[in-house]
Amino acid sequence: QAKAKGKNQFVVHTSDLSDEMIAESVLEIELRNALDNQEFVLHYQPQIHNVSGALIGFEALIRWEHPRLGLLAPGRFIRLAEENGLITQIGEWVISEACIQNKKWQDAGMAPVKISVNLSTQQFLTRNLISYVEEVLELTALNPKYLVIEITENMAMEYEYSIHVLKELKKLGVGISIDDFGTGYSSLNYLKNFPIDYIKIDKSFVSELMNDVNDAIIVIATITLAHNLQKEVIAEGVETQAQLDFLKHHNCDITQGFFFNKPLPASEIENIYLHH
Ligand code: C2E
Ligand code: MG
Ligand code: MG
Ligand code: MG
Repeated sequence: QAKAKGKNQFVVHTSDLSDEMIAESVLEIELRNALDNQEFVLHYQPQIHNVSGALIGFEALIRWEHPRLGLLAPGRFIRLAEENGLITQIGEWVISEACIQNKKWQDAGMAPVKISVNLSTQQFLTRNLISYVEEVLELTALNPKYLVIEITENMAMEYEYSIHVLKELKKLGVGISIDDFGTGYSSLNYLKNFPIDYIKIDKSFVSELMNDVNDAIIVIATITLAHNLQKEVIAEGVETQAQLDFLKHHNCDITQGFFFNKPLPASEIENIYLHH
């Protein structure tokens, strides 16, 4: 808090700033340099097909290898990156890194799988998104069917423009997933007009699946709705055999969760899935 001192001078008393506020602004400055310093990494969480048990893809999840604070989860910095506009640049790095990695794995002989990346709404609405994705696919020579873009329901706020962007992405051949389904501010209306391939059931509905009948009802209804609309369903946050059994019994298509694997660095993915 700045206090008036004499004529036109202002003095900032650091004692007026909470440690938390200082830490937050230091983090923001560091975030501005993190891309240049190559401090971001992607971890990859396997997605398993429920009927065949086959690996069908990975979700790429960003982490920040912070020099002082260690490995930071996106919950610590994505909101900050959205507030100061860095999210688009960071998100572009995520798209290219994920495509490069997926192509490397295919070239190394791993069975081809899809890689999913998360887009913040802000990035989804930037004008050059489509040309950026097109360019990355060209440069990496990754077949577009092995890239999936995860968006949230909030992009339905820009209804007409979002339909346009999604249709262009579909023309490129990439898949579209609705993340955190049922947790955003939007009507179900978009489900009939948006070209969506997958619906991801948020882990908040999965975690209490076996204890809360309301969650169970919502999960069953979501699977039915998705299937009737010709979309596949991915359940995230699956941690127990009981949850998996329930989801399988109700014809959920794909499972992602700690029950199978936590998000892992590329090297560990290779240890598991790449035969030497
Ligand atoms: P999300 O896209 O819904 O990703 C799923 C989150 O659930 C991940 O957290 C994952 O580690 C966690 N998770 C998966 N399975 C389980 C489980 O069985 N139990 C529990 N308790 N958690 C599980 P993470 O990696 O911390 O990411 C949090 C959120 O940050 C993501 O939620 C996504 O919204 C955002 N995010 C992650 N990477 C990116 C990115 O590259 N760009 C943008 N814009 N957002 C990202
Ligand atoms: Mg996601
Ligand atoms: Mg999700
Ligand atoms: Mg989620």
